[in-house]
Amino acid sequence: MRISRARKVEIVLRDLGRRYAEDDPLQGEGTTLAKLTAETEDPFKVLIGTILSQRTRDEKTEVASRRLFARYDTVDALARARVAEVQRLIKPVGFYRQKARKLREVSRVLLARHGGRVPDTYEELIELPQVGPKTANCVLVYGYGREALPIDTHCHRIPNRIGLIRTKTPEETERALGRIVPREYWVNVNEWFIRFGKEVCKPVGPRCGECNFTAFCGYYRGRGQR
Ligand code: SF4
Repeated sequence: MRISRARKVEIVLRDLGRRYAEDDPLQGEGTTLAKLTAETEDPFKVLIGTILSQRTRDEKTEVASRRLFARYDTVDALARARVAEVQRLIKPVGFYRQKARKLREVSRVLLARHGGRVPDTYEELIELPQVGPKTANCVLVYGYGREALPIDTHCHRIPNRIGLIRTKTPEETERALGRIVPREYWVNVNEWFIRFGKEVCKPVGPRCGECNFTAFCGYYRGRGQR
């Protein structure tokens, strides 16, 4: 029996919700951003954590974030920090030299343009140094609980693998998911796909035996149901 795309979306979101919706970041469950949000409710830390996470594994992001915030946990402190010291603290993440400079720069811009507050609109966020669409949308979702769709590699790969969308770039994925995912799920999509991508639908060697989407997943069916 052919399953409609709307039904597939519903099945996927319900299943991911069952896996992850009840988890408690305060008990160490979830991504670094979910934990930072739960522990601090501070959009500034979400912004800095998201910049640290760019092109970096989540485990490294968490280590670097905790080291950095133990020493500099406010926009004023980070704006006055020595770049060499920030580099030392965030060394676990990729591109730490460049990111250290940008973290101080973004802190100074926040002070100069926004009174030290992280803005809560996409248009203002995207104007900040080192902030692209994914980072801006992460701040909206995790920092402010707003409906937005941050698209990282997992969020791009998984719906394409399943066959919910057919897109080539994160920007296309954001638009395509925006058309098919009910808005009530937008705040969850990033967190759930990242976790599913790390635990089950891995980039290499997905654990299809632990997945409930094999009946309609294009990747699984196309590979002879391995
Ligand atoms: S069936 Fe395999 S490839 Fe498809 S979503 Fe599940 S884990 Fe990923």
